[in-house]
Amino acid sequence: MATYNQDLIMVRFGELNTKGKNMKDFIKQLGKNIKVVLKGFPTLTYEIRHDHIYIYLGEEDYDLVKERLKKVPGLLSFSLCKGFPRDLEIIKKYALDIASKSDAKTFKVITKRADKLFQYTSDQINREVASLILRNVPNLKVDVHNPELKININVREDIIYVYSTSEKGIGGYPVGIAGKGLMMLSGGIDSPVAAYLMLKRGLKLECIHFAAPPYTSENVIIKIHDLLRKLNIYQPDFKVYIVPFTDIQKKIYEVAGTSYAITIMRRMMLKIASKIAHRNNDLVLANGESIGQVASQTLKSIVAIEHDNVYMPIIRPLATYDKLDIIDIAKKIDTYDISIRPYEDCCTIFEVKDPTTSPSIEKIKEIESSFDFSPMVDECVKNVKVMHVSEEEDKKDEF
Ligand code: ATP
Ligand code: MG
Repeated sequence: MATYNQDLIMVRFGELNTKGKNMKDFIKQLGKNIKVVLKGFPTLTYEIRHDHIYIYLGEEDYDLVKERLKKVPGLLSFSLCKGFPRDLEIIKKYALDIASKSDAKTFKVITKRADKLFQYTSDQINREVASLILRNVPNLKVDVHNPELKININVREDIIYVYSTSEKGIGGYPVGIAGKGLMMLSGGIDSPVAAYLMLKRGLKLECIHFAAPPYTSENVIIKIHDLLRKLNIYQPDFKVYIVPFTDIQKKIYEVAGTSYAITIMRRMMLKIASKIAHRNNDLVLANGESIGQVASQTLKSIVAIEHDNVYMPIIRPLATYDKLDIIDIAKKIDTYDISIRPYEDCCTIFEVKDPTTSPSIEKIKEIESSFDFSPMVDECVKNVKVMHVSEEEDKKDEF
């Protein structure tokens, strides 16, 4: 049943080159995610259709709803609109109302007919509406190429929608549609940005953090928590695996010597992460590495760190990004100020002045056969602690 004369938001989807069942899943997941993001607005009601999602505003403030919607992955754009009965006189009156209230100097009427059987063609509607506006709003002129005001009229089988503004969403895919991955989160600038890009691609994320107390303090965990609270707008709850990494890390420095310590440490991080990922049905690992950024991220290091070590794909969304571009995104998603808080990283506590940028596989084999790390790896996996990060968890803590 069409509902007339109410303020509603017409939501357009992101990358819809998906078809059939995929498209149905996409829309279902997007609808679900939107409802979660907007659950603080109790009078909203929803209509999920094959081509759009409609959100009836009820008593809610559009500007507040708008800010949240702009951050939902999978959402291409949206417009505040009104629906009317299929009566051209009503549409003309409303379009005139929009034009009279606008400060614009130029306008264009854009009609689209999903229902080709409607008694007027798009062109007729455009002309009728535009000429009424031209007769009644003296300062407004038509500009078909670059209008300041666009009055959009969408004719459907049971209703006509009219709107004049559009907001851009962030695009991508709805979180959850692409499966689940394990994100390695360090507390630096890069990894939260990588997490954001994964979420925007439709992945649901769990996170893993390697902590080395007492060398790293509780502040690092608070930092991880605060970073993920910023990402809760994209995924409302995160499960974080906190790995007690101190013992194995000390052993690595003892066994590997300074130039290979970081290489072996990274190998162990990946090994532990992939075991935890397997156990929790995470399909891939992800991290914030960027080619060439530091010694452990040269191509040769990447190859040596993965070699004969990890049996699942590792996604590196920032592999080709420049640091300045990463910082831009960090600022946009509001994680930058948290990331630059001073903190002790588990990689910097044992000072390494001469990390190799081109580790040899032979040397790695030699180090790893001189000491069997697997019991310590298993110990890390066994003693992992879990933290949940969501708005609800924070509320619980207040009591
Ligand atoms: P920065 O902005 O300082 O580069 P970073 O998070 O990228 O921060 P790197 O030392 O460059 O830190 O590490 C590369 C990647 O390895 C990180 O993006 C992260 O995915 C992973 N990583 C590093 N340290 C940890 C850690 N302690 N726990 C979990 N993942 C880590
Ligand atoms: Mg980095």
